[in-house]
Amino acid sequence: MIKLKEVALCLRAVNYSDTSQVVTLLTREHGKIAAIAKGARRPKSAFDGAIEPFAYGQVMVMISESHDTLSTLTEFVQSGRFRSLRSNLAAMHAGLFALELTEASFEQSDPHPTLFDALVDMLDRLGQYDKMQAVLPVLIDYQLTLLDEAGVAPRLDACTNCGAPTGSGGKDLYFSSAANGLLCGGCEQAFTEKRRLSPACCAMLNRRAAFTAAPPALLTEAEQLLVYHFTELMHRPPKMAKYFVTRANAMS
Ligand SMILES: [Zn+2]
Repeated sequence: MIKLKEVALCLRAVNYSDTSQVVTLLTREHGKIAAIAKGARRPKSAFDGAIEPFAYGQVMVMISESHDTLSTLTEFVQSGRFRSLRSNLAAMHAGLFALELTEASFEQSDPHPTLFDALVDMLDRLGQYDKMQAVLPVLIDYQLTLLDEAGVAPRLDACTNCGAPTGSGGKDLYFSSAANGLLCGGCEQAFTEKRRLSPACCAMLNRRAAFTAAPPALLTEAEQLLVYHFTELMHRPPKMAKYFVTRANAMS
């Protein structure tokens, strides 16, 4: 057993027996860790009460070296840093969506300190907003960072098949998850799995610094595209995606 003490964010928590929980934590230096928190649901525990998604603070974990058994969480000093997210529906949904996608994107013990910092920063920013249109730029920006950190950043500045620049012409573009990026009009017919993307939305996706000033319709289109893409990557719709897919744009 290795004793680990560092800052962690709870990505997921499920009840295990009457008194315990199994939690998935994201740590900055050791990546994702699944651990059992014995007695976490008892009124008095070493975890400041039951552990929920967004819980953040100093943890102590006993890590099994064989990796075939669960690690054991022995302490969680919760700071309450992201507690305000729970009082705001749009921010909470975006935050839970980010946690779900993060959990699905990495194996255990695969540290990504940059991503950890980006996620904490994203949750801090979400805490300041209460409208979906303010929340979307933060979510989209994080989703692109996540793909980048997972080593699967899609190509958005040119056709991923032939390399043709896509910034001109005003013609509709396509995005393919299998091709991991844009397809120009000349290439799209060779791909069955694809989704139409407006040139304006594509241009916005290439200007991340301008997300917060982007028109709501383009932000919505971009998020629909990302939901489509993560659904393809995960081979199922993410649970939280339903809060970000409008019926008019439902995936076919
Ligand atoms: Zn092409």
